[in-house]
Parts: sequence; structure tokens; C-alpha cells
Amino acid sequence: MTCLEAQSKIIAYIDYNLEKEEKINFLKHIQNCPNCKDELNIYYTMIEGMRQLDENLPLSKDFTVELNDRMDRELKQNRKRREFFRSSVCIVVIGVLGFFIFAYINFLNLLHEDEQAKLKEAQGEYYYSRNFRDRLFDPYDKENILNINIDDQSERIDFYQKIRQHNMLQ
Ligand SMILES: [Zn+2]
Repeated sequence: MTCLEAQSKIIAYIDYNLEKEEKINFLKHIQNCPNCKDELNIYYTMIEGMRQLDENLPLSKDFTVELNDRMDRELKQNRKRREFFRSSVCIVVIGVLGFFIFAYINFLNLLHEDEQAKLKEAQGEYYYSRNFRDRLFDPYDKENILNINIDDQSERIDFYQKIRQHNMLQ
């Protein structure tokens, strides 16, 4: 905010007519600019003095102290608001992170279950293969317990496919 902008807002500030953000920018400028601060002091003393006279109120003893108190109060309020905002953002971030971690763990569990299922299936096939392979698939064994005609495509059929075929027949 430039000095010109700040000085154009002095009366609006004194009359509480600035928006929150505008007011904070104005106050930040005033804190760092002795010229504008002096200007604000003069206007404040004039306008507040007139108002107090108009309303038959007792006149302030020190307008400068009064004005400084008001500015401090308003800046502090803004700081508190920002702290509150920051902590709300923290809570939201933690919530979102927590959700993703939860989802990721669930995903890992699903993956694990899936792997276990596949392992079991493979173990089943392994079991069949170890115990029955010779008897199941030896085309020259007359006692073959499976009546699958595998002569014509014996080399092409995948072994596991045969197992599955066998399982389906049962
Ligand atoms: Zn200035």
C-alpha cells in the first residue's frame, strides 16, 4: 500500500468502514510509515474529538494512546484469526493424510489377500501335480483316472489348464 492509498483510507478507518483485509494492509502501512501515522493521529484527534463533543461525552485525555490501543487490538485479533486458520488447515491436512494412509493400508491388505488366494490356488495345483501328474496325464497308462483325450494336443495344453479341466470335471 502506498502513502497515497493509505492516506485516502484514513477517514474510512477511523469510522470503521474498512474491510478486514483492507484494514490490516492499512494498519501494516501505518506501523511502518511515520508520516502516515502522524496524519492518522491528526485526523483521529479531530474526528474523535468532534464526535465526543457532539455526543456530549467526556473528552479523551490522550487520543494518541487511545488510537494506538485500538490499532494494537485490531492487529492482535488478526493474528489470532490467522493462527486459528493455520490450525484449521493443519487439522484438515492431518485428516487427509490419515485418510490416505488408511486407504493405503487397506489396499496393501487387499493385495496381500489376493496374493494369498493366488498362492493357495497355486498350492492346490502343485498338490495335484505332485500326487497325480503321472497317473492323470500319462496317455499310455491304461489306468489313467482321467478320461481326457490328450493325445492330439498333449504338447500344447498347458499343464495347469489340464488341472483346471480336471477340477471342472469333478
Ligand atoms: Zn505512508
